[in-house]
Amino acid sequence: MNNEELWKAVLGELELSISKGEFNTWFKNTSIVSNENGRVVISVPNGFAREWLENKVNMHILQSLKHLQSDIQEFSCIITMLEQKNIQEQSFIQTQTGFTASPQRVSAQSVPSQATQTYPIGATVSYYPTPPNATQANLKVKQEHALNPRYTFENFIVGENNELARAACYAVSQNLGRLYNPIFIYGGVGLGKTHLLQSVGNEVLRQQPDIRIKYTTADWFTGELVESIRNQKVAEFKESYQKADLLIIDDIQFLSGREKTQVEFFHIFNTLYQANKQIVLSSDRPPQAIPTIEDRLRSRFQGGMIADIGRPDLETRMAILKIKTAERHFYLDDEAIRFIAENVTNNIRELEGALNRIVASCEFHKITPTISYIKKALGDIIANTKRAISPERIMKMTAEFYSIEEDDLKRKGRKKEVVHPRQVGMYLMRMELQTSFAAIGKHFGGRDHTTVLHACEKIKADLDENLRLKEEVTSLKEKLYREQ
Ligand code: ADP
Ligand code: MG
Repeated sequence: MNNEELWKAVLGELELSISKGEFNTWFKNTSIVSNENGRVVISVPNGFAREWLENKVNMHILQSLKHLQSDIQEFSCIITMLEQKNIQEQSFIQTQTGFTASPQRVSAQSVPSQATQTYPIGATVSYYPTPPNATQANLKVKQEHALNPRYTFENFIVGENNELARAACYAVSQNLGRLYNPIFIYGGVGLGKTHLLQSVGNEVLRQQPDIRIKYTTADWFTGELVESIRNQKVAEFKESYQKADLLIIDDIQFLSGREKTQVEFFHIFNTLYQANKQIVLSSDRPPQAIPTIEDRLRSRFQGGMIADIGRPDLETRMAILKIKTAERHFYLDDEAIRFIAENVTNNIRELEGALNRIVASCEFHKITPTISYIKKALGDIIANTKRAISPERIMKMTAEFYSIEEDDLKRKGRKKEVVHPRQVGMYLMRMELQTSFAAIGKHFGGRDHTTVLHACEKIKADLDENLRLKEEVTSLKEKLYREQ
């Protein structure tokens, strides 16, 4: 069997044990590039596919390879660029999400130097200047959508809380229907989901002004459906969605409990999915946590790429404030920016609200704000904010609490004495700071986001049954907030 035949046979076997959505998403454009001395190297088109193959379905793949050729011992993946135009973003994804391992450098090296100029790689917070052709004028093409041209990738600040979600959305905007379908972004209120979803629409529109984009919220979708039933125009309603090239639905959690809407949505979803049309969804929680939603719909949501947005850290909040003050043609010095960012920590909408209040009040009184002026202006907002703790503090206090070294939390060791504290630390970082899984993985010595996800789910499940664990977590939490 040559490499091509071997891989074909493996895929044939895998197709039976993996859902169709996953199969189509992750195995598209993969192949075996070498098979020597019991070691197989698989070429994949991007970092997400690599992560999926190596961490999620690795056992299936290995079993199948071994079954077909018994001397195969292991496999690994390398990322191979398919098209020249993808190179910039691929390198961006790899570097920003930390999916870096040695074979990937193959592709990182092939990135033209101009790519590094466009995307400042390595910085935790980066602001991407507007490309010269993204003028408001060419965004205002008559379209069947309700996109707000204000929401673009260019003015979306990238921090470790949102870099995976941002990278995935950007990649999708450059490869409609070909990479991840659907793409599902979730996170708490005011953390940038709508901004990101609309950025996909605006970016696609910028490149292809004639494309049919449908942007709506699940709430609006329901309202429209009800209206169409009343007017006996359900067929037209469905058709208006089914002819979209790109369907973006915001706040999909509102489908919860609406059975009729779910049925119609399911049909629309399938029609578009089967025609390789891109679907982009957001929700305030992951698919498995949306209550009263049909299982078949839930599994559709889980069949593509899922990325979460966490709460931004101080550095990211400061960067966001800077760009928002500039957008308002207002000026605040670094001290003022830091003060606001340190005191308004819940989400970005609140941060913007605080800034609006200061700008309005200063413009009204025609003054430049001092710190004490800002303090007064923000009085109630500041009082309602829980004193911020940092990921670093969680690392430090967790290690202290369990009497281990902070480095043990980051090292690879699998001893019970360190695995348990590590999982508790990850869980706390998630629950207390809503840090994204990918970012938590980085704090804990470069672990991938699925490992973090499993750790958090494990602790969450154990808490219900294990009283001792419950006490541990409660007293650790008290220490986190009290002893500062
Ligand atoms: P969500 O849909 O998650 O509730 P939004 O997308 O409406 O949140 O974001 C709230 C506000 O915060 C918007 O004005 C948005 O532009 C801004 N915002 C959120 N994330 C970012 C970011 N990373 N960079 C710049 N602005 C952001
Ligand atoms: Mg929103």
